[in-house]
Amino acid sequence: MSEDAYTRPVPEPSRDTRPYWDALNEGRLVIQECAGCKRLRHYPRPVCDVCYSMDVEWRQVSGRGSLHSWTVAHHPFHPGFKTELPYVLATVDLEEGVRMIAQLRGVAPDEVAVGLPVQVAFERATDQLTLPVFRKREGK
Ligand SMILES: [Zn+2]
Repeated sequence: MSEDAYTRPVPEPSRDTRPYWDALNEGRLVIQECAGCKRLRHYPRPVCDVCYSMDVEWRQVSGRGSLHSWTVAHHPFHPGFKTELPYVLATVDLEEGVRMIAQLRGVAPDEVAVGLPVQVAFERATDQLTLPVFRKREGK
């Protein structure tokens, strides 16, 4: 680990979420698709909310979306986030119809707006883990 080793808490992949994290490590965003009713769902979980099927497939999605809501963090609830303050935590509606939460990078807190077009990006956090973040999407 380098001197600026990652000091923030990180998610721990589980049996249900491993394919999601593996894909992020490869620079791809995948979402669970119910093998029974074909409904997409996110966050990853073992059972479909609609038909209760436990059969799941993973679909690669565009990573394009628009900002649904956000919060600006001014207080470090974990010391590892101290150097990033203030940061924007975004709730994004992906084009494929599911909602996900990640940090929004490169947009000043006072420039954030509902509907802002965004694109997922991938940030290596540790040797084993890549985190999704969103960036403002230029053009269409
Ligand atoms: Zn289903």
